[in-house]
Amino acid sequence: MENSPAQLIKEKLDLVQFIKNYIVLQPAGRNFKGLCPFHHEKTPSFMVSPDRGTWHCFGCGLGGDLFSFVMKYDNLEFGEALKILAEKAGIELRRVSPQEYKQFGLLYDINAAAKEFFRAELEKADVARKYLGERKLVPETVAEFEVGWAPNASDALGKHLINIGFDPADVIRAGLIAKNERGLAYDRFRGRIMFPIHNHIGKVVGFTGRILPQLDTGDMGKYVNSPETPVFQKSKLLYGFWKSKNPIRDAGGAFLVEGQMDFLMTWQSGMKNVIATSGTALTSEHLRSLRRATDRLILSFDNDEAGLNALERAIDLAEAEDFGVKVARLGEYKDPADAVAADPEFLKKAVAAAVPAPQFYFDRYLPPKADLKDRDYLAKLRLVLGKLMRMASAVERDLWMRELADRAGVGLETLQSEAAGLAEPAAAAPERSDDIAPAAPGAERQLTRRELLAERYLAAIVTAGDFTSDEDVIFYLPEAYRDVFEILRRGERHSPDPRLDERLNAILLVGEDMPPAELAQLKDQIRKEYLRERREDLATEVRRAELSGDEAALQKALLDLKEMPTK
Ligand SMILES: [Zn+2]
Repeated sequence: MENSPAQLIKEKLDLVQFIKNYIVLQPAGRNFKGLCPFHHEKTPSFMVSPDRGTWHCFGCGLGGDLFSFVMKYDNLEFGEALKILAEKAGIELRRVSPQEYKQFGLLYDINAAAKEFFRAELEKADVARKYLGERKLVPETVAEFEVGWAPNASDALGKHLINIGFDPADVIRAGLIAKNERGLAYDRFRGRIMFPIHNHIGKVVGFTGRILPQLDTGDMGKYVNSPETPVFQKSKLLYGFWKSKNPIRDAGGAFLVEGQMDFLMTWQSGMKNVIATSGTALTSEHLRSLRRATDRLILSFDNDEAGLNALERAIDLAEAEDFGVKVARLGEYKDPADAVAADPEFLKKAVAAAVPAPQFYFDRYLPPKADLKDRDYLAKLRLVLGKLMRMASAVERDLWMRELADRAGVGLETLQSEAAGLAEPAAAAPERSDDIAPAAPGAERQLTRRELLAERYLAAIVTAGDFTSDEDVIFYLPEAYRDVFEILRRGERHSPDPRLDERLNAILLVGEDMPPAELAQLKDQIRKEYLRERREDLATEVRRAELSGDEAALQKALLDLKEMPTK
């Protein structure tokens, strides 16, 4: 454990200096303090402890070490973070940890070698370059995004990679070759324009291959993607974000398109604040990555029913995640690539004229001067109302409710009571699909009041260094904090259990200094909070027993409730 590559990296890189590359930190006693990069705040509650090599935010509850900081900040998997930090620390992963290198590092090297191969092949393939020319993609864009060509042969890439020394099993693991039923290896990408997919720091982690039209037999799919690997997660990666991060920041918003061609043509037209999803619908994970750069999103859509439905899902997801969303209309054009090819200035005008998402819904569902008695119209009114109710910002919701009342010609109160009727289903979490990754359990959980009190209390007794007079309060602490208390009393500062370690982290960073009278007050508050929670539980139990007609349970709960101390 002591000599693991992660440990070695943590020893080499100074956490405070490292985090200073991302945010401003001010000294605060033995620790450092700054504005949290993971939630919006005006007063700093993000603390870094150089002694422990950890960080913690008292605002949103996130915390961890060097690795978890990088993983959260850049939305990376552990393997990616390991590779990047090893490079920064000047540690060669291949040497210190052949196993880690084989699991992650090797996949980057294989993808990089494949990209070079595809690029060299494009130079030789007139037919492929002719196609790119027809799509109006200029050589500068092709070079900048390292577009290549996979020859139409079953073993071109595979043979090349094995010749330069890679193990066939690893090339299979990278998803570049596959085996057929007879066990013969063949190239996954054949006769395709190859778009490398870079992760957010610019390393190639996979590919999308588009079949050359004249080779399209219709049985392979127009687009083929690399399979998911330890370094390639489609639901997380935004295509082009490694290049467009800063333009997006500068422009104060991101233009989201669907595919690589849309991205490249948009970029080429001079609008560089663009991103694309590759081979998947927009996910919460994508939005988490994007939020590092902006919380404003401009969407467009393909002009058909499928495109409109995909657009609606993207709008609803982004609004629920508190993004400001606008919709750009493409007029008669099929998609953004099509629009730019015909008129390089078109997109800029369309984006400048983009309408807020609620306006888009009004226009789509609620034609002006509609008959209010029409059942169909009412259903649509409810649909739009439901969408407004899902908006994360209450102020915005209120604004659009007024607008909707105006538009539909009904009173605001009528609309509000209609909304109240909808409130329950609408307030439920957005529908889970496989595209939406569930939030990590426990991540960014709000602490209960009793947990907050326990945290302050333990911080105070650690500072005082006195654990003797506190036996009486232990019983009232939340369970995890009882364990933390025991760890601290033993004089330990770490726990192998990450949940407990996270709490220790928070407590040791607070270092609360309080006079004995205040400490006594805090103890009393914890006890009262415990009793309040307990009374609430019993009241719930009483209601449950009443409803289910469980007489014995009802009597017991009532008795317990009566015996509860009132003060
Ligand atoms: Zn925070």
